[in-house]
Amino acid sequence: MPGQIAANLASVRRAVAEAAREAGRDPAGIRLVAVSKTFSAVEIREAAAAGQHDFGENRVQEGLEKIEALTDLGVEWHLIGHLQSNKAAKAARAFQWIHSVDSRDVVERLDRAAVSAGLRPQILVQVDLAHEESKSGADPTVVSDLVRVALDARALNLRGLMIVPPIPDNPRDSGPWFRQLRELRDQLVASGAPPSHLAELSMGMSHDFRVAIAEGATIIRIGTAIFGHRPTLAPSAPL
Ligand SMILES: *Cc1c(COP(=O)(O)O)cnc(C)c1O
Repeated sequence: MPGQIAANLASVRRAVAEAAREAGRDPAGIRLVAVSKTFSAVEIREAAAAGQHDFGENRVQEGLEKIEALTDLGVEWHLIGHLQSNKAAKAARAFQWIHSVDSRDVVERLDRAAVSAGLRPQILVQVDLAHEESKSGADPTVVSDLVRVALDARALNLRGLMIVPPIPDNPRDSGPWFRQLRELRDQLVASGAPPSHLAELSMGMSHDFRVAIAEGATIIRIGTAIFGHRPTLAPSAPL
């Protein structure tokens, strides 16, 4: 339906501003990533025409196709889904932001590809706090090592941490996960990691972004509330 995406974006932006105000925060400190996975270039163009600048994709190949088809938009692309190391080089060349960095191998491969392409992607370390079977992310015990490796990289710009908590029954149930991610960041900084490289917390989706903003999210990743419901994928679809 023409106009629906623009209207949804406007109401998400209003809700973000309201949640920021309630938390005593400046809404300008919250980056809204429109998660366009499964949606087409046409829908992404509609969002971009309504002023949306950041888009998120969870699969490298699907993202690459859209990025190539939409170079004229001048928007920024975020990879938010699990990154297999054999796709790291492709991802480093196409996405400006990579939220799902969770192993030393991925850091090293991203760095090599970024160096040889003369690029400097922004990266976040994805943390696995809930230990769900299906989720990726680095164990909290190895995050400080991973942060060190990322800071030593030649061409990667570490920006912060990211989490995908368990789907909550009630959005408030996400609060403790978001708080734990923020506290982990604070611990890393207290033990000497440079705060400017851990300033970003990528957390909060359509159902719980208000809670995430209250807990200090600086990047929220919103799909359904902007583009509508996604067609359900076949259960066997590889991530
Ligand atoms: C799909 C996805 C989102 C967006 O989810 P919605 O509930 O549609 O807002 C956010 N983050 C990640 C990692 C995702 O895969």
